[in-house]
Amino acid sequence: MLKYYKAARAALHNSTNTQKVFAVAEAKGRKVAQATNQYTRSHARQRDYARRAGFPHKVYLHAEIAALIKSRCRVDTMYIYRLNRRGDMLPSKPCAVCQLALKELKIKQVYK
Ligand SMILES: [Zn+2]
Repeated sequence: MLKYYKAARAALHNSTNTQKVFAVAEAKGRKVAQATNQYTRSHARQRDYARRAGFPHKVYLHAEIAALIKSRCRVDTMYIYRLNRRGDMLPSKPCAVCQLALKELKIKQVYK
């Protein structure tokens, strides 16, 4: 069972997004923020990472960057999940934009 399976289910079960992504930010073993991806909201930080990663069109908030913003980047570990089309919750690798953000902030990614 994924560590944040229940929180991910609760956050994504009503999502109408094509991609359904959920991220939990932890600091020192405690959850400090969670977020889903958004198709209607952007943020300067998202646009900045997107531009620098070479994907300037990816302006809408990704779950990982939304969780970073909510936690004011006081994060050491990030859990990332996605709900696939069959409804299975799976650990998920971040896209290139989020990879850049996590790498720069030295945030560990966990897939369980
Ligand atoms: Zn991303």
